[in-house]
Amino acid sequence: MEERYCQSCGMPMGLKDEHYGTEADKSKSKDYCTYCYENGAFTADCTMQEMIDFCVQPVLENVPGLTEAAAREMMSIQFPLLKRWRA
Ligand SMILES: [Zn+2]
Repeated sequence: MEERYCQSCGMPMGLKDEHYGTEADKSKSKDYCTYCYENGAFTADCTMQEMIDFCVQPVLENVPGLTEAAAREMMSIQFPLLKRWRA
């Protein structure tokens, strides 16, 4: 399995099966993480902006020295490229 990023929240899912969401038939999603996607459906029906708001805190905790403004700017560039948010 290659390294993949969740196409909803941008989290690196790495090589571990447990980070991948599940389809309705219990197979692993190739596109979405377990936090965003379970049993073939998104766990939260939110907008891209709401997802960014939700992700700011964990991103800041994971990247020492990053400011909130920089984190938001980074995600506002990255998120529209993800499969879930692409028009
Ligand atoms: Zn996700």
